[in-house]
Amino acid sequence: MRQIENPVTGRRWKHSLWPGVKVEPQDLTVISWVLPQTEATRADNRQETVYPAERWARSRIFGEEFNVKLRKHVVKVIKQHGYEAVAPLLLPQWQTRDSDRYVFASVWSERHAAYAAGLGTFGLCDGLITPKGKAVRVGSVVARLQIPPTARPYTDHHAYCLFFTAGTCRKCIERCPVGAITEAGHDKLNCRQHLKPVTEKYVKTNFGFDGYGCGLCQTGVPCEDKIPTEADV
Ligand code: SF4
Ligand code: SF4
Repeated sequence: MRQIENPVTGRRWKHSLWPGVKVEPQDLTVISWVLPQTEATRADNRQETVYPAERWARSRIFGEEFNVKLRKHVVKVIKQHGYEAVAPLLLPQWQTRDSDRYVFASVWSERHAAYAAGLGTFGLCDGLITPKGKAVRVGSVVARLQIPPTARPYTDHHAYCLFFTAGTCRKCIERCPVGAITEAGHDKLNCRQHLKPVTEKYVKTNFGFDGYGCGLCQTGVPCEDKIPTEADV
């Protein structure tokens, strides 16, 4: 199969998984899911003020490994039923991109897919607030089959965040140990520098595995495990 190269990153990828096959958007269904953190993991991370709890760090790495297996399993089951399916995040074409507007982004975002699928809206910290809260991992698969869409119960991408709906809360600002969240939003570079190398070294030294994580803005906040209301602030 023909290979093409990204002129910016130099990374090479296959041009198409199905060259010559024409697919219209209405032929496809995005299947998106939310995997909530357990109460034990959330409770441990709630106690932290700088570094991640061990359960959280393990969930960040090994929970995501499970999420990768889940994506593969969903693809396999759909294919067994005779339909084409892919997990975009696992494709060789998936890549991150530097962006003048968004600092960095990716060609497929699990959180944006979940937002479009009606599973949640974005908070001040960029996390996805779902009916199960913001302490979640998300995944998705795109299948060439038609399934009636789930209702999307909002029209605004910040509909579940109290900062945008009521001008209150701001708890995630207080939770961030490096000041990466302000009323202007989420400073991705500042956040990433805390994740790597700071928490990376901490996890290796204290928990003995190669990992990283933070999630302090996802725990100890009103949107941790639900869509928050004013009564939660
Ligand atoms: S903690 Fe408050 S301000 Fe931050 S995302 Fe959640 S609801 Fe919005
Ligand atoms: S993940 Fe951690 S460093 Fe990043 S914004 Fe949230 S609290 Fe701040």
